[in-house]
Amino acid sequence: MSKAIRGITKAKEIITDDCPICETICRRIHCDKSTYRITCDRCGEYILDKENEGQIKTRIEHFLKKNIWKYGDPRGKQLCKRRRMIASSIVSESVKGRLITDRDFERMFNTRDIPVTEKANKLLKTLGHQCYYIGEVLEVGLDDYELHAKCWILDGNELLEFLSYLHEVGVIRLDGHGGADRKVKITPNGWKYIEESQKPNNDSVQGFIAMWFNDSMNDLHDAIGDAIETAGYKPQRIDEKHHANKIDDEIIKEIRRSKFMVADLTAKEPESARGSVYYEAGFAHALGLQVILTAQKDMMPHFDIDHYIRITWKEDNFDEFKKELTNRIEALFGKGSYRKQSR
Ligand SMILES: [Zn+2]
Repeated sequence: MSKAIRGITKAKEIITDDCPICETICRRIHCDKSTYRITCDRCGEYILDKENEGQIKTRIEHFLKKNIWKYGDPRGKQLCKRRRMIASSIVSESVKGRLITDRDFERMFNTRDIPVTEKANKLLKTLGHQCYYIGEVLEVGLDDYELHAKCWILDGNELLEFLSYLHEVGVIRLDGHGGADRKVKITPNGWKYIEESQKPNNDSVQGFIAMWFNDSMNDLHDAIGDAIETAGYKPQRIDEKHHANKIDDEIIKEIRRSKFMVADLTAKEPESARGSVYYEAGFAHALGLQVILTAQKDMMPHFDIDHYIRITWKEDNFDEFKKELTNRIEALFGKGSYRKQSR
């Protein structure tokens, strides 16, 4: 090798090493005297200074010692490997090529592992993203480190377990044969599940009630609340302090965390238009929430939304209205898990 080439090689020397976070093989380049740029197949790219690298080492050693002392040798080592995995997944999600700060560092070592079902969901969604068309058979590498990081999965064995799990619950079809690769196809149920889980606030059990608050509307208020509860959801009733046509932060916050909204468009006094109800329904609609419209029979809506289906009510008969509203909610979202409270 000529002198000149050797010079260039030295200035941009790439060192192959074990990743200080996850121990997968990584490439390390000096940025300056005290920082490295590390490219790891699992953690992605990050910059680390020597001080933080020392801290990682100390923390991991401390963690390892503590767990071996508490649980014995193999279990302690496994827990340590799991801690590296969590730290690595956090780095791959949030660092993306920048310097690891003390704040990242705290998250890497203080965040709990996520539940098994959440990992399985992440895996299914990631597989869904990889498909170009419905029915595509994907080749999944068991040593796909990027996939391990994305789904908070420990290693190839655990990935295979998760694929088998998705196969068992019927959302993918897994071809059990093969060496380091597995053939995977998402089933119709799997696609249905992916779409369902992309709806906003999929896990929420809250149904927001938007309506005119006035003593004359109390029966309707109770009827909507009962219908939501009977369907297995928690009615979010905004209490009296929020009445006065005021959209405050509390209301916006509650709409944001709801799975759906029931909006009653009835205005008994034409001059006091139900502006806040329209605003809240529009806001929920823009967030992608389902809005179920209701109104008193024969009432004309304020804007031209006549073509939207509404469930109507009559003052002398709320039972039928309640039944219809419950059925609509269950048809849209299935029976919810919220238990009706005794009042
Ligand atoms: Zn790594």
